[in-house]
Amino acid sequence: MKHDADAIVVGAGAAGLMAAWHLAQAGRKVLIVEANDKPGGRINTLHNAGFSHYVEAGAEFVHGELPFTLQLLKEAGIEYTPMSGELLQYKKGEIQEQHDLVEHNERLKKPLNDLAYDMPVEDFLNKYFPGVEDAAMRQSVKRFIEGYEAADAKRASIIAMKEDLMEDDSEQFRVEGGYGKMIDYLVKQCDQNGCMFRYSYPVKHIHWSEGNVRVDTPAASYHAQQVLLTVPISILQAEPNEEHAIRFLPSLERKWEAAKVIGAGIVMKFLLEFKTAFWKENAETKDMGFILSDEIVPTWWTQTLEGSMLLTGWLAGPNAAKLKDDDEDMLLDDALNSLSNIFKIPHVTLREQLRTWYIANWQHQPFIKCAYSYATVGSKEAKEELNKPESSTIFFAGEATYIGQAAGTVEAALASAVNVVKEMLNHRPA
Ligand SMILES: Cc1cc2nc3c(=O)[nH]c(=O)nc-3n(C[C@H](O)[C@H](O)[C@H](O)COP(=O)(O)OP(=O)(O)OC[C@H]3O[C@@H](n4cnc5c(N)ncnc54)[C@H](O)[C@@H]3O)c2cc1C
Repeated sequence: MKHDADAIVVGAGAAGLMAAWHLAQAGRKVLIVEANDKPGGRINTLHNAGFSHYVEAGAEFVHGELPFTLQLLKEAGIEYTPMSGELLQYKKGEIQEQHDLVEHNERLKKPLNDLAYDMPVEDFLNKYFPGVEDAAMRQSVKRFIEGYEAADAKRASIIAMKEDLMEDDSEQFRVEGGYGKMIDYLVKQCDQNGCMFRYSYPVKHIHWSEGNVRVDTPAASYHAQQVLLTVPISILQAEPNEEHAIRFLPSLERKWEAAKVIGAGIVMKFLLEFKTAFWKENAETKDMGFILSDEIVPTWWTQTLEGSMLLTGWLAGPNAAKLKDDDEDMLLDDALNSLSNIFKIPHVTLREQLRTWYIANWQHQPFIKCAYSYATVGSKEAKEELNKPESSTIFFAGEATYIGQAAGTVEAALASAVNVVKEMLNHRPA
């Protein structure tokens, strides 16, 4: 069988591009097959969407001193700036400072340290904090796990949450010019190293035997020795008869079962640009970075960019899933109602003040469907299974396959790519 490439990389997000570049650098002939009509995946910097500046519909922050991300940004000559602004909360009708993402942190410590085995966050709360007097504590933990981790408390791992809470509060950054610049750099590196690209080619089937794959898309089929799947976990979890599923022939039951154990977090991001930065007119919120609340769209943040009038809203986890099929006008109403309550400004005034808006509802992106993965009870073993090459021929990478402290991030995608390339080069079929 004549091969079109040594390796086919499915997906041109951060993981796929990073892996393709490194494989090509190692002398492999690489073909990248992407379902969308452009690269980037869950990195989506919008430049011409009617806003005064670029906006991030997907990834926005660098969550700490993350080695692969910062190294890549430095190499590409892309600047990044530390985040600033106060962490506030809106509670019982008042705006207050908040010191930790999870309140009552001290009370959580003992039961977390005593944990002998993993369990879902909700079971943990019901076991250790069942009382009426603990309602605020349960609410705060659920707000963190659902809002920040985009996870379902019924499935999310308490041990993973404990590890997240113990992480040091290292500085966070934003990428100047947007994360899209990183994607541009990766595409350029792939191009310069001879990678071939196919956009708008959704992979439907992968026929395989050891050392041979045939990757079928509606428009064409491609042959190679190895294939690397970097698609989101929600795509790997799909039932074989679902529209955007990728079918393996012969099937890979163990990989599919493993994929289903990993949590697929859901997020809606609300980008609202106003005519004035009204929050700056209020003493309590003039230095606001983030504000957390119990409103329908509970979390909002500002930009560090001078003169920015953008507020970004964040609705994640089961609450985002509930509103999945609401149309954009209903969602905008929810967003404005939330801001109206927090800032005590009438809805109608906020609507008049609105210059432009965009709602990124990732559940509706056909080849993405989720925002990022989260740890469930058993997801570490599931990731180990996905990280095992299948007959030196089929490999998996992408943020959901990453094991480590930066789960769910661009860093996770990049790190998984670097690791899988080593595996692919080591397991080269004869
Ligand atoms: C709203 C939102 C906010 C986020 N915020 C942050 C943040 O602040 N900081 C951070 O570090 N991370 C953030 N993330 C997570 C981060 O964006 C992801 O972890 C990372 O971009 C994932 O990269 P990836 O390459 O693993 O997957 P992806 O970027 O999803 O790439 C996978 C690619 O596979 C393609 N694909 C799917 N199916 C097929 C098919 N059948 N055939 C061919 N191609 C296919 C997809 O189109 C996609 O391009 C956020 C994500 C979202 C959605």
